[in-house]
Amino acid sequence: MSLVTPAQAAERLKNDQVVAVPTETVYGLAGRMHSEAALTRIFATKKRPFFDPLIVHVRDIPQARSLAKDWPQAAQILAEAFWPGPLTLVMPKSELVSSLITSGLGTVGIRCPHHPIAQQILAALGEPFAAPSANLFGRTSPTAASHVIEEFSNQVDVVDGGTCAVGIESTVLAINADSFSLLRPGAVTQEQIRGVLQGAGLFTGWQHSQRVDAPGQMKHHYMPSKPLFTVDDAFEGDLLATLNAALATLPDVVEGVALVKPAHIHSVQELRLDADPATAARQLYASLRLASAHPADAIVFRYQDAHREPAWTAIMERISKASSAWIAP
Ligand code: AMP
Ligand code: MG
Repeated sequence: MSLVTPAQAAERLKNDQVVAVPTETVYGLAGRMHSEAALTRIFATKKRPFFDPLIVHVRDIPQARSLAKDWPQAAQILAEAFWPGPLTLVMPKSELVSSLITSGLGTVGIRCPHHPIAQQILAALGEPFAAPSANLFGRTSPTAASHVIEEFSNQVDVVDGGTCAVGIESTVLAINADSFSLLRPGAVTQEQIRGVLQGAGLFTGWQHSQRVDAPGQMKHHYMPSKPLFTVDDAFEGDLLATLNAALATLPDVVEGVALVKPAHIHSVQELRLDADPATAARQLYASLRLASAHPADAIVFRYQDAHREPAWTAIMERISKASSAWIAP
């Protein structure tokens, strides 16, 4: 494993290798979209199941259009409003997109990243790359080159692009014939998407996502290396006793992802987030890693009333999936 330049990363991608690259959301493990060898390597490196589709990263709207079967006006309007940026559009795919990328689905997730290094690599490569987050499946996403190095030690080359400005994964929106489904919340909010669509007279309502529409949206994800418990701020009981009781009921494996369980919780470390949601998102995964590295047996996140606000939706979705249990008041 070594740090490589954007030009070296593009060369490696051309040679069907995988490279970790910075984007504004999280670091991605990239492979050339037309390289079956690279795509297979992405799944193997991450230990990612093949039923979890990859997002294809494009340079611009014309490149995105070539991947979609049709390019509806809603896609154009949303791409103009939010690209380059943290919004993934899921649409019926063109023949250019292999079923390895889409897990056999007829749709593909497409995103145009804002990070200048991701853009530089896309320009040098001359074709899109597929990239999931550069972490082992089910674990905390990387928001710094050092996180990728920690996770994969000598397996993966990485381009250091600093700390990710957004810090959580993209918003995923499926564009259907007559409605829109938000498959994953992110920095681009549901309200912003509705506003842009309404402004163009294109909003036809939300369709509530079906599990089948969002493979890979598992109950547990983003998990740190020790159990995280979300505790309602109004909780007033004996915390350690309650956490140990909750620990005793946890399964060993959920949806193929092993939960890490200490024998007993003697002490906890608090996960603290900034009061500003954009800052909290940027720092979330680094804070989770820091709390994991603390010698305490478990991590506690205190859920406050302010976290119910829409600006916190995407962060709370990550925390809830990263949590082993929710402790009610
Ligand atoms: P990530 O792991 O951050 O790369 O995000 C990939 C996620 O995007 C997957 O786990 C899916 O939930 C979603 N996704 C990607 N492609 C599709 C698709 N064709 N249909 C539905 N969801 C998709
Ligand atoms: Mg991921």
